[in-house]
Amino acid sequence: MATFDVIIIGGGPGGYVSAIRCAQLGLKTACVEGRDTLGGTCLNVGCIPSKALLHATDSLHEAQHNFAKMGLTGAAPTVDWSAMLGYKDDVVGQNTKGIEFLFKKNKVTWLKGWGTIPAPGQVKVGDELHEAKAIVIATGSESASLPGVTVDEKTVVTSTGALTLGAIPKSMVVIGAGVIGLEMGSVYARLGTDVTVIEYLDAITPGMDAEVAKSLQKILARQGLKFVLGAAVQGVETGAKGAKVSYKLRKDDSAHDLTVDTVLVATGRRPYTAGLGLEALGVEMLPRGQVKTDDHFRTNIPGLYAIGDAIPGPMLAHKAEDEGMAVAEIIAGKHGHVNYGVIPGVIYTTPEVASVGKTEEQLKEEGRAYKVGKFPFMGNARAKAVFQGDGFVKILADKATDRILGCHIIGPAAGDLIHEICVAMEFGASAQDVALTCHAHPTFSEAVREAALACGDGAIHA
Ligand code: FAD
Repeated sequence: MATFDVIIIGGGPGGYVSAIRCAQLGLKTACVEGRDTLGGTCLNVGCIPSKALLHATDSLHEAQHNFAKMGLTGAAPTVDWSAMLGYKDDVVGQNTKGIEFLFKKNKVTWLKGWGTIPAPGQVKVGDELHEAKAIVIATGSESASLPGVTVDEKTVVTSTGALTLGAIPKSMVVIGAGVIGLEMGSVYARLGTDVTVIEYLDAITPGMDAEVAKSLQKILARQGLKFVLGAAVQGVETGAKGAKVSYKLRKDDSAHDLTVDTVLVATGRRPYTAGLGLEALGVEMLPRGQVKTDDHFRTNIPGLYAIGDAIPGPMLAHKAEDEGMAVAEIIAGKHGHVNYGVIPGVIYTTPEVASVGKTEEQLKEEGRAYKVGKFPFMGNARAKAVFQGDGFVKILADKATDRILGCHIIGPAAGDLIHEICVAMEFGASAQDVALTCHAHPTFSEAVREAALACGDGAIHA
């Protein structure tokens, strides 16, 4: 039996980051991971492989649509699907090995296998029992299921199967117009698949600023994605030639069906805590299957903490990482903190979409007086030069104090641009603070400054 200060169960972005920080703070740390590689959902079957495929297919799209406009002529590239998957696997491998290296460098022990918690302060991995003063549950999430739909990861797939399809399908239905559905739908649409997205609600990307969501839908439709909104999927039948998806339109209850090669079920994710033994321990859970914690990530069992997708909040890698660092600080007797008001969300379509803070809809609901500063990328010289004039930056600021309350960007590099506003919000900045900051020309970030200027006396290039 080995004894540690901390054992973290799960080697995803929440768990591995927490383990490294615990070790850096001088705690004897182990991390339990049952997969063959570290990095969790994010590095193995989530953020990283999906971004690799988005990058490869976006490059293809550039070559097909924009190269000739810049005088780059010659045959457009063709797709070698297995080589593209190989590139994706290589990217994943480099990243997961990188975490293994960081564990060695920081002296984190990787306990290989699936962990259970037989009693407070104990973790069992295989036949080995270990003891720890603190245990952190960082076991993440899994794809949510849908009644009437059986996933076989071949014809009817989750995002995991969609990352390794045997061939590029001719047609695909994506069930669910959330982030994962739209990203993977974009990948296949760019590869020539006829993609139809079926969504239960009347708008895509629920929770997103409505103006941005509408704009994204229009742009994606122009790229060839079809949308059936307000539709409840009734079931999926698989046969020799693919799958038949039956759905009903909510407005008139009319029944429809669509037969396609592949169905991607992207209706969200649910926390994964199966097999840990939490019920026997008496760990309090929430109705949606998350572990219940207080604002210091403590469960109701002394010495047992939980973070990441296994607890409430946005199911995002960076949220899990921040909680991983914060819980490490707390366990080490310091002050760990996560500002849930400033967690950016990004969709890696082309154009990218990024947001932080409040949406207009939320501010209206709260009855808060606000002003809007908006600037279109059409007015940004750099964006026009690279054929990315679609989209805009929208900054929401308090009407009286000018303090920034939220920002929503659809346009080039939105996922990077948003961080200027995240930092500004962390410092309690006003829109004028951003507007008065010199921004290099010609950069996409000038659009952020112009939106900030539009919160005051007006943008210059609009
Ligand atoms: P996970 O990453 O799920 O890691 C948990 C780990 O715990 C797993 O490796 C699992 O094997 C292990 N585990 C579970 N139980 C046990 C046990 N009993 N013993 C040992 N090990 C165990 N988020 C973003 O921020 N940006 C993105 O671009 C993005 N893209 C995504 C794309 C896809 C297709 C998917 C599916 C997700 C994406 N996400 C993205 C979400 C992101 O992957 C998750 O929010 C993040 O991985 C959560 O981190 P975590 O550490 O809480 O859990």
